Amino acid sequence: MKIHEFQAKQLFREAGVPVLEGIVARTPAEAKAAFEKLDQPLAVVKAQIHAGGRGKGHIADNPEQKGVVLVRSADEAEAAATGLLGKTLITIQTGPEGQKVNQIFVEQGCNIARELYMGIVLDRAAARPVLMVSTEGGVEIEKVAEETPELILKEHFDPAVGIEAYQVRKLCKKLDISGPAARSAGKFIAALCRFYVDKDCAMAEINPLVIDSEGRMLALDAKITFDDNALFRHKELHDLRDLEEEDPSEVRAAKSGLSYVKLDGNIACLVNGAGLAMSTMDIIKYHGGEPANFLDVGGGANTEQVTEAFRILLGDPNCKAVLVNIFGGIARCTTIATALIEASKQVGFNVPLVVRLEGTEVEEGRQMLADSDVDVITAVDLTDAAKKVVAAIA
Ligand code: ADP
Ligand code: MG
Repeated sequence: MKIHEFQAKQLFREAGVPVLEGIVARTPAEAKAAFEKLDQPLAVVKAQIHAGGRGKGHIADNPEQKGVVLVRSADEAEAAATGLLGKTLITIQTGPEGQKVNQIFVEQGCNIARELYMGIVLDRAAARPVLMVSTEGGVEIEKVAEETPELILKEHFDPAVGIEAYQVRKLCKKLDISGPAARSAGKFIAALCRFYVDKDCAMAEINPLVIDSEGRMLALDAKITFDDNALFRHKELHDLRDLEEEDPSEVRAAKSGLSYVKLDGNIACLVNGAGLAMSTMDIIKYHGGEPANFLDVGGGANTEQVTEAFRILLGDPNCKAVLVNIFGGIARCTTIATALIEASKQVGFNVPLVVRLEGTEVEEGRQMLADSDVDVITAVDLTDAAKKVVAAIA
């Protein structure tokens, strides 16, 4: 689960990770009032969407309107808010369709002395979180990683212990941070690492991480992704979810207890079991096709879930064919056949449908399909299914 910058900063404040004062606004009038309340000569109006690159991104029909705007008066704050709210912001991370701005964050302006990069992710190979720091702040870190990986410093830490003082000293030395800034960095880094572990984050990224003119280390940006599988332990985070920022078909699927990830291809897949779903996607690609999604209906899928799954798959305008690959273990083939027939009545298949059924009650399931008026291309195994579905759209 992702959250907005202003939400992340609120959590940072509670966790002792230093951030500047800021106020969220949903109307231009609120933005104006926020500037007055902050009572600073300089503030920044920042579009709140679940994507980065806002500073360089712009509003769809207005290239002059950037997603992060420096303002020096309440009127300027109001004008920036008018230019952003309700509009579509396009950044390198949103893709060409952009993302609608429903709220903005009016934040105190910072006197930046140095811009750095800091991020924490889980290093699966090391089975530990890894803190990454770079002097190349403010720019795309992916580019740095590719072109000058030596400029990214890494420190793994034990989640039970947190980052250790000697590791912070080592980093400060390499980054040429000393005096009061080093003390501020020590507190900052320790608090951020603790936050990452305590809240079960999957990723925490601060770009830029700045040292201001007074030598304070501050998070000027904040991007956090929580581990969905650990969210049940964090009731306090549930309200932070913003469904408007998420893919509507994924939200729908989650409501029905389906594991669904939308992809860019045109062959929709309905599969039971995550491993089988992965291999189905692989074999489609192997035979020259492109999967439109990952979908695992789960072991014990019922008719309603499978019907809803078909609705989601067929609702994707890119979908040119559907491949159903079921190994009936707990989920019986007859359940899938019933759902298929039901879905065809309710939604209607306007694209070729290839079905490979195997397992519990397979004969009965196949018979049900044969007796129905659903137009099915039957496949005997995975390879056969993949070849037939690719051929169906050729
Ligand atoms: P994004 O990564 O989406 O572009 P950032 O929050 O990183 O958004 O903001 C973009 C740039 O705007 C930063 O690199 C920084 O230079 C500037 N900026 C952001 N917040 C402030 C602030 N409070 N004061 C001064 N400059 C800021
Ligand atoms: Mg940023």
